[in-house]
Amino acid sequence: MASPAISVKDLSFSYGDNLAVDGISFDVAEGEVFGFLGPNGAGKSTTVRLLTGQLTPQAGTAELLGMDIVSERKKAQQEMGISYESTNLYEQLNAVENLNLFARLYKVADFDAMALLERVGLSGREKEHVANYSKGMKQRLMMARALVSRPRLLFLDEPTDGLDPVSTQTVHSLIETATREGAAVFLTTHDMVEADKLSDRVAFIHEGRIVALDTPAALKQRFGMRALKVEVGHANGQTELREVALDEAGTAQAVHDLFRDEHVLTVHSEEATLEDIFIDITGRGLQG
Ligand code: ATP
Repeated sequence: MASPAISVKDLSFSYGDNLAVDGISFDVAEGEVFGFLGPNGAGKSTTVRLLTGQLTPQAGTAELLGMDIVSERKKAQQEMGISYESTNLYEQLNAVENLNLFARLYKVADFDAMALLERVGLSGREKEHVANYSKGMKQRLMMARALVSRPRLLFLDEPTDGLDPVSTQTVHSLIETATREGAAVFLTTHDMVEADKLSDRVAFIHEGRIVALDTPAALKQRFGMRALKVEVGHANGQTELREVALDEAGTAQAVHDLFRDEHVLTVHSEEATLEDIFIDITGRGLQG
C-alpha cells in the first residue's frame, strides 16, 4: 500500500496543564478528504498547528509525505496549502497582488493569478483592495491562496463558513478537483452536514482524544439508529408525529399496528446524522 500522506502517532500537546491534544493517532491517504470534527475547544486547531509545524509536539510524531514535522518542518511546509482562521490576507493589496506575493514566496513558476481567481469566482473584483471584500469573498480568496502552490496537503478550516450556496458549491468542487489530483485534505469543522458530504472518513475529537474514526456510512451503521417518522391524522383534524425505530425486533409489529389502528398520512425514513452519533458517543453536540 502507498505510504500515507499524513501519518500521526500518539501526538500530544498541553498548554500549561491543559492537555489540548491527548495521544491521537491516524493516517490520511493521498486523495482522501479527512474530516476532523469536534466542538469548540476539542483540540482541532491545536492539532492543525501541530501538523503544520506552528507548534512543536510534546509527545508523539507526525509525518507529512514521509517528512517529520519537527526535523523536516520547512520542507514539509512547502507541500502545504492552508486556509485557516489564522491565515492572513494583505488587506491593502488586491486579490491578484495577494496571490502573486504568495506565489513568489512559494517559488511557483508560471503562476496565473487570474485563472485561479476565476476558479474561485472572484474574477471581476480582482483589482479591489481586499479590505473591501465581504467575508465570503475573503473566504474564497483564502481558498485560492491555499491552492497557489498546487499543494499535496490541504488544511482547510470551515472552508464554506459564511458562503452562499453557489460559492459553497464552488469550494466543494475545488476540493474535489484537488483530491482527484492526489491532494490529501484535512478538513476541520463543526458542520457535520458538510463533513458528511465531503469526507471519505471522519474522526470525532472530544477533549483532545479521537473517540471515533471511520467512513460516515460505517459510523451511521455502527452507532446510528434508523427511524420511521410517521404522521398520523386524528378525527378532530389534528396531526401527530410518531417515531418507529427501524432494525429492532418489534419494528414490523409496530408498523403493522400503526397502519391498522391509525390514519397514517405520511411516512419518512430517517437515518442518524453525524451530529446524532457524536452526541451518542460524547454526550454533547458539535455546536459550541
Ligand atoms: P474551536 O472550534 O473553538 O476552534 P478547537 O477544537 O480548535 O476549538 P483548540 O483551539 O485546539 O480547540 O483548543 C483546545 C484546548 O486548548 C482548549 O481547552 C483551549 O482553551 C486550549 N487552548 C487553545 N489555544 C490555546 C493557547 N494559545 N493558550 C492556552 N490554551 C489554549
